[in-house]
Amino acid sequence: MVEERVASRMEKLPIIDLHCDLLIHLLMNPDADPNQRTFGASFPCLKEGNVGLQVMAIYTPVDPRSSELGVTQSEIHKKLLRSHDRDIFQAESGFRCGQDDRIGVVAAIESATGICNEEESLENAFKNLETILENCGRLFYISLTHHEENRFGGGNYSKPGLKADGEVLLDYLSGKQIAVDLSHTSDALAHDILDYTYKKGLKVPVIASHSNFREIWDHPRNLTEENAEEVIRRGGLIGMNFLRAFVNNDQPEALLDHINYGLSLGGGENALCFGADFFNINDFPDPSRHPYYFPDHEDATKYHQILQDLGDSLSVAQKSKLAYQNVERFIAKNWN
Ligand SMILES: [Zn+2]
Repeated sequence: MVEERVASRMEKLPIIDLHCDLLIHLLMNPDADPNQRTFGASFPCLKEGNVGLQVMAIYTPVDPRSSELGVTQSEIHKKLLRSHDRDIFQAESGFRCGQDDRIGVVAAIESATGICNEEESLENAFKNLETILENCGRLFYISLTHHEENRFGGGNYSKPGLKADGEVLLDYLSGKQIAVDLSHTSDALAHDILDYTYKKGLKVPVIASHSNFREIWDHPRNLTEENAEEVIRRGGLIGMNFLRAFVNNDQPEALLDHINYGLSLGGGENALCFGADFFNINDFPDPSRHPYYFPDHEDATKYHQILQDLGDSLSVAQKSKLAYQNVERFIAKNWN
C-alpha cells in the first residue's frame, strides 16, 4: 500500500530535461512534425513523461555556414513557440513546473560555432548572439565547442584548452544569466574554463548539461571526477545522458550507476538532473552506434521508470531533486 502510494506519487513527478536536439532536426527536416512520436523528445512523449521544461539546443558543427545555421535555428525556435502555442510556452524567470499545463521550453547553444564561423569577426559573433537571444528570449547555456576543436577551444575529441576567443566570450557572458556548458569540452578546456571564470571572478554559472561520469564509463564525453566535483561546488548542474555510447555499450542499468555515483559525490544530490540528449538518429547516421539508445531510455516517456528503477534506497525527496527541483532551484538563483 505504502509502496503503491510512493509509486503513484513518483509517476506524477514533473521532469526537467537540459538537452534535446529538436531544433537542428527541424532545420534539417522542415516538414518534420514535433507532434510525431518518431523523435524521442516529441511533444506527445514529453507530455506523457510529464516534462515541465525541456531545453532545446541550437547545434552547429564547425562549418563556414555555422552562424547562419545558428541564427536560423533561433528563428525556428521563435516560430515554434507561435505555431505550437497549445503545446509549449517560453520559460521565463520564476519558472516552476506545474505553473502551466503546457511544456516549458528554453533554448541553449551547443557549440559557439553557432554565433560565428572560424573566420568572422568577434564583433559579428556578439551581434549574432544578440540576435539569437532576441529570437529565443533567453538562453539557458552555451557550450564553447562540440566534438571538434574550434576558435574558442578544444572539443571533447580534441586536446586544446581555452583559446583567446574563448576568454573573450566568457568575459562577454559574465552577468548575462547564461551558463557555460562543459558537456562537449576537452578535459583541458573544462579545466581552463573553471580556472578562468574563477580567477577573473566572472558571473558565469558552470554546468554540464548532458554528461555522465568517467568513473562509471570511460568515455571522453563523460566528466572526470575532478571536474564533476568542481561543477557541484559551484552550484552547477549535471544532466544525465541517455545515449548508449555514454552510459555503457552493453548494460542499460549502468545509467543507474551513473546516477548513484553522482549522488555519492559531496553535494551531488543538489546538482544531478536529466539531460537525456534525444536527437533524430536518422539525421546523423553512424551504424557503429546502433542502437543509439537502449529501449528503456529511448524517449521522454522513460524518466519515471528510471526513477522507479533507482529503488527505495533513494528517498522521494532525493528523486524529486533529480527529477526537477535542482533545475528549478538553479533557475531561481540564476535568472531574473
Ligand atoms: Zn551534445
